[in-house]
Amino acid sequence: MTHLRTQAVHAGQPPDPATGAIATGIAQTTAFAFGSMARGADLFSGAQAGWTYSRSGNPTLAALEAKLAALEGGEAAVTFGTGMAALSAVVLALLNPGDELAYLGPLYGGAESYFTDLCRRFGVSAVELRKGDVERGLSPKTRVLWVETPTNPTLQLHDLERVAAAARPRGIVTVADNTFCTPCLTRPLSLGLDLAYHSMTKYIGGHGDATGGAVVGPAPLIERIRKTGLDHLGGSLAPHTAYLFLRGVKTLPLRMTAHCDNAARIAAFLDGHAAVRRVHYPGLAGHPDHALARRQMAGGYGGIVSLELARPGRAGVAAFLDGLRLFTQAVSLGDVNSLACHPASTTHSFISAEARQRQGIGDDLVRLSIGIEDADDLIADLRQALEAVARSEEPLPEQRQLAPT
Ligand SMILES: *Cc1c(COP(=O)(O)O)cnc(C)c1O
Repeated sequence: MTHLRTQAVHAGQPPDPATGAIATGIAQTTAFAFGSMARGADLFSGAQAGWTYSRSGNPTLAALEAKLAALEGGEAAVTFGTGMAALSAVVLALLNPGDELAYLGPLYGGAESYFTDLCRRFGVSAVELRKGDVERGLSPKTRVLWVETPTNPTLQLHDLERVAAAARPRGIVTVADNTFCTPCLTRPLSLGLDLAYHSMTKYIGGHGDATGGAVVGPAPLIERIRKTGLDHLGGSLAPHTAYLFLRGVKTLPLRMTAHCDNAARIAAFLDGHAAVRRVHYPGLAGHPDHALARRQMAGGYGGIVSLELARPGRAGVAAFLDGLRLFTQAVSLGDVNSLACHPASTTHSFISAEARQRQGIGDDLVRLSIGIEDADDLIADLRQALEAVARSEEPLPEQRQLAPT
């Protein structure tokens, strides 16, 4: 079972040995019967393996964790109720006051705000590394290096092999946020990183109906993260939601192919459009990281396309976004349906204007999450919305010179 499409369907989900049920059951229970006082004590001391309480573990979650570990090529996985709960678990499991967390931005806005605001309050400093200059930013205090590729929402790539090579000799734990690529496009563990991180809310679930997070990596690290994140922080995934992810992830490789194909066509369409100043998509030959993307991403360049409108200012962006009919204006991404948002006023509004400026998240930037609809329909929608921007630039009727009658 070495191919991703096979693993997505089968890994972690054999038929139920007791009933033969081919779908994985939802273990909708808080606690699990010990059977005897002696077994209860053994389960808690670790002398016997088994289930005790759903905050710490549950068979439905375990099936999902086994599948994610297989897909990412890791030893073990742990799931959480959201991506941010998973991030919290990693940070609080691996860092102590006085330690440093280094990151290669731009990051998902919530992650960056967690690192720069919350970490600081607990005595952990966050250091943003310059792209292409990982080595110089690391210090003897650096314990964790967090990298997101491609970055949200500007779609730059970071070289994961280089990140791993810089961190490994220094004993720094590397985490790749693999939400955008999914294991279909990039497998960070195979490139030498320690942990692969996911907001499952996005492509893993894929249907816009469930929030979740996951971390995959070596068993001892995952055990530490599990203890902190579930036993202490309590950010556990609900069994019913785990079932939705188990169902969604079966089609992940098929969906990713459709997302990538559609996004490539849309990026090419936008790239040639007069109303568009710039398109950010790693699949475009003119993208600054295209060569790295060809090396690091397999089978496609992802489903996210960002663009800057030729007309500067928020009014043009509003005319474009409000003109879309098939794309839904919402945050989140990775759904089967196409979504559009304005990062500066939504997902990245929590980080400072100065940081946004530095990271290239301008007021004219729009992020599109390309769904699996028909590409021609999506392009037609974008075309008419771009025409709406052009119309909005025309002077209002009362401002026009009145023609002589
Ligand atoms: C959404 C997202 C997160 C946070 O996950 P939630 O499930 O929303 O808590 C982290 N990283 C990236 C890249 C994301 O897109």
